[in-house]
Formats: sequence, C-alpha cells, structure tokens
Amino acid sequence: MPPRLLTIPGVQLLELEVVQVDDLGPRMRQLLLTGNGLQDFTYEPGQDVMLVLSGGERAVSRRYTIRGYDPRARTIELDVVAHGVHGPGAEWAASTIPGDRVNGVGPRGKIYLDRDADWHLFLGDETGAPGSLRMLEGLPEAVPTQAYLEVTSPADTLGTSRASSETQLVNWLYRGDTPAIESTMLVDAMTSADLPDGRGHVYIAGEVQIVNAVLRAALARGLTPDQVSAKAYWGRGKANENNGEPLEKAGA
Ligand SMILES: Cc1cc2nc3c(=O)[nH]c(=O)nc-3n(C[C@H](O)[C@H](O)[C@H](O)COP(=O)(O)OP(=O)(O)OC[C@H]3O[C@@H](n4cnc5c(N)ncnc54)[C@H](O)[C@@H]3O)c2cc1C
Repeated sequence: MPPRLLTIPGVQLLELEVVQVDDLGPRMRQLLLTGNGLQDFTYEPGQDVMLVLSGGERAVSRRYTIRGYDPRARTIELDVVAHGVHGPGAEWAASTIPGDRVNGVGPRGKIYLDRDADWHLFLGDETGAPGSLRMLEGLPEAVPTQAYLEVTSPADTLGTSRASSETQLVNWLYRGDTPAIESTMLVDAMTSADLPDGRGHVYIAGEVQIVNAVLRAALARGLTPDQVSAKAYWGRGKANENNGEPLEKAGA
C-alpha cells in the first residue's frame, strides 16, 4: 500500500478479501468483499473505493463505486464492467475468486447527492450505472428522479431496490453494436429529457469525451455549472492513470 494513498482526506485502509463473485450479466461482475476497515464503515451514496491491484514504486490502482454495504456481514459490493479490452481492473475482476486478498482505501469521491435539489437526473454508461443506482436509492421516494443508463443490451441492465414509478424512473438505453465511444444516446437523453420545475441536479459518469458532451448539453438547457456533477471514469483508447482516473478530466 503506497503511504500517499492513506493521506487522501477521509479514507481509511481497507484490507479486503473477496468472499463472493457472481456474473450479473454478460459484461458485469458483482464482487462482495469483506475485511479490516469495514467495521463501522460509513460512506455517502456515490463514493467509491480505490483498490491497489499491483504493488511497487508505481502501484496501479483502480476505483469502483460502492454499490452496497452490509454492516452486519461487513461486506461491500462492487459491480465491475468486463469491458473486453486489456486492462488491470477488468482482468483482476475477471479472474478473482473467493479467498483472494486485495488492499485498498476508501471511501473516496467528492460527488454527493445534492439534498437541496428539487429533482435529480442521472446519466451514465455501464461504469456509471452502479453508482447512479446507489445514489438514486439514497433519495427519498417522493423526490422526482430520472436515470438514463446506457448499456449494450437488455441483458446488461442491473437490478435496483427502487421500483420505477412516475416519480422515479430508470430508463435503460441500449447501444447495441455501436461502440460506446460513438454512441450519442446519453447526449440525446440530456437534450430531450423532461426536466421538472424547480432547481435540479444532474450527475454524469462515463467516458471522458462523452461526459463532456453531456455536460455541454446540460449547460445548453440552462442548467448552471453548480447544478451539474460530471466525472470521467475512463478514457477512450487510453488506460487510466495508475491512480485509477483518466489523464483527461471532465469539465466542458
Ligand atoms: C470515481 C470512479 C468510480 C468508478 N466506478 C466504477 C464502477 O462502479 N464500476 C466499473 O466497472 N467501473 C468504474 N469506474 C471505472 C473504472 O475504474 C475504469 O473503467 C477503469 O479504468 C478500468 O480499468 P482497467 O484497468 O480495466 O482499464 P484501463 O487500464 O483503464 O484501460 C485499458 C483499455 O480499456 C479501455 N476501457 C476502459 N474502460 C472501458 C470501458 N468501460 N469500455 C470500453 N473500453 C474501456 C481503455 O480505453 C483502454 O484502452 C470508476 C472510475 C472512477 C474514476
């Protein structure tokens, strides 16, 4: 564990062991992990853990949003995309088995629910879906909320404890054979979504250039920058940096 990771504000050392691995669909692995650091663990919906996947001077870390935390079992759930391209994160998730150990730090992340907002809109690709659903589930059921989540096919949708209703609606978008980086579905959703009255908040997560395009579409609808939380999770054609983030940052 590189000592500098323990200086990140708010995090604690997590010495984790994989306890369960399940495929949620053809391209998504659900991992349950337990271990030291998960007793009395607290986090905000949308926060993540950073796993250190290889050691040494230039340790490689990858970040995954906390999909769930069970305080009794002392487990956290991470849902990790098998994106099909060589990468330490995807490869670790594809090969890990119960009993494997991995260290990390958490909780990380500065994007929280805007509790004062009158309505919420989440837009993300499959990497953003676990966090978007976790945040949606963290809102009162009466608060108008929409999510537009883009995946390959209906087999890639994820479950949520929050049933879709007129007030809270999860819309799955299927890009099919279109490569994720060529899809305009999230931009189109931002451009055409019915925005309720009042002051809302928009949350965007996914590939950096698409995140920036969705952010521009949000601003074009009259939202102010403080009403939009945009985060780049990965970058096209480029491995994330060793710290688990794309070199290019989101921000129109
Ligand atoms: C705060 C935060 C939270 C995140 N939460 C989650 C989460 O809950 N679940 C999750 O699955 N991911 C999540 N991610 C994204 C995840 O950390 C990255 O996708 C990560 O870079 C994957 O690492 P890798 O080692 O597999 O690939 P990298 O080494 O980063 O990239 C290798 C190659 O794969 C390509 N690639 C990477 N990701 C994708 C993709 N999704 N689709 C197509 N090509 C891709 C790259 O362009 C590159 O060519 C999060 C990222 C951040 C910053």
